[in-house]
Amino acid sequence: MTKIPMKSTLVEIDGDEMTRVIWAKIKEHLLEPWVDLDLERYDLSLEERDRTGDQVTLDAARAIEKHGVGVKCATITPDAECVERHGLEKAWPSPNGTIRAYLDGTIFRKPIMVRNVPPMMRRWKKPITVARHAYGDIFKNVEMAIDQPGRVEMTYTPASGAAPVTLLLHDFHAPGVVQGVHNLNSSIRSFARACISVAIEQRADLWFGVKDTISKTYHGCFREILQREVAERAAEMRSAGVSYFSMLIDDAVARSVRDEGGFIWACQNYEGDLMSDMVASGFGSLGMMTSTLVSPRGKYEFEAAHGTVTRHYLRHLRGEKTSTNPTATIFAWTGALAKRGELDGTPELVSFARALQASVLEVIEAGVATGDLAPICDPPVQRPASLDTFLEAVEIRLREKVA
Ligand code: NAP
Ligand code: MG
Repeated sequence: MTKIPMKSTLVEIDGDEMTRVIWAKIKEHLLEPWVDLDLERYDLSLEERDRTGDQVTLDAARAIEKHGVGVKCATITPDAECVERHGLEKAWPSPNGTIRAYLDGTIFRKPIMVRNVPPMMRRWKKPITVARHAYGDIFKNVEMAIDQPGRVEMTYTPASGAAPVTLLLHDFHAPGVVQGVHNLNSSIRSFARACISVAIEQRADLWFGVKDTISKTYHGCFREILQREVAERAAEMRSAGVSYFSMLIDDAVARSVRDEGGFIWACQNYEGDLMSDMVASGFGSLGMMTSTLVSPRGKYEFEAAHGTVTRHYLRHLRGEKTSTNPTATIFAWTGALAKRGELDGTPELVSFARALQASVLEVIEAGVATGDLAPICDPPVQRPASLDTFLEAVEIRLREKVA
């Protein structure tokens, strides 16, 4: 059999622990037999990041910028205990953070739905994609505890030498706390552009909520920038049948649980942090959630939303069979291959990716489910499948489809 060729390079970013084990199995059993893979590989395992002084992470980000599409395995973000245990030079920063900052990207988290895993919300029929603006707000805050009476002020000193502007934050008569947050118009604009592009691509409505009745300037700035960017692309949105809904954030939360889904929910940084966890658990399992980083220059990185599944890895190291769900990692690969195929004009590659996705969904719908899904399946699945059993079932189904 001749393998499906690739016209250009896909950036492969390998990672850690259980997801690294899954990664190798997916390549060996579900991809290499069918596709003549053209990969540029970066090993972002903790050992390699430590050995290269984290240079490999930056190289991987540059490679995505150059080739346009990457696929990433989950990686460990080391904490102090991890530095000790692995004897690391230091606690290297989150690779996702580094790559996201380099590409100035927005992350879109989307649940994968199957018929036999009903969402917790009875009304949800279609996936809700949460787009989180990943810059600023409380994630880049400056804060201070106040334990004595005194005034806290906020001063802006223009670089031009113009007169400074000072606002009173609070006149404290008793202990309390303060924090200062900021954002950048350029970053909000990139976020807006990525959200609009993905909404058009997926032909899904775009929702955005802020609290600009209270925060008239800060939240108001977000609303204005989104409004302006939407106006710029109104014609394209109209022809894709995409509507933009701007509302108060509390209204968006209330509507999201009553709606049938199928929309893209653009969120500020903190709200995105909360809502992506609410949506992920509401749809069933982290093992069924994909995460796509989209840059305003149209570069893509696909991955699973979950981490390296450490607890399962420890069991794997003891020689036990685990029941880890590989679905989101498989969908990271199929998302990347389909995008590559779309950009390069290779429909066979897109069809292969779709066939692999369909194989996974059909296997689950036929009642072969890993431990995270088995208890929430309807009808219930009595015995969870091991990772290997699940992958074998997908492989068999894929072979039937491709043949
Ligand atoms: P995690 O790896 O997502 O796992 C948390 C728990 O969720 C697991 O113990 C497991 O629950 C369940 N789970 C997640 N994915 C699953 C899957 N595919 N199949 C079945 N169950 C699944 O999060 P964590 O344990 O908090 O983090 C572990 C490491 O991953 C950390 O070093 C963290 O920094 C890193 N991390 C990386 C990324 C990334 O690279 N994108 C994202 C998040 C975290 P049970 O044990 O109950 O079965
Ligand atoms: Mg979170």
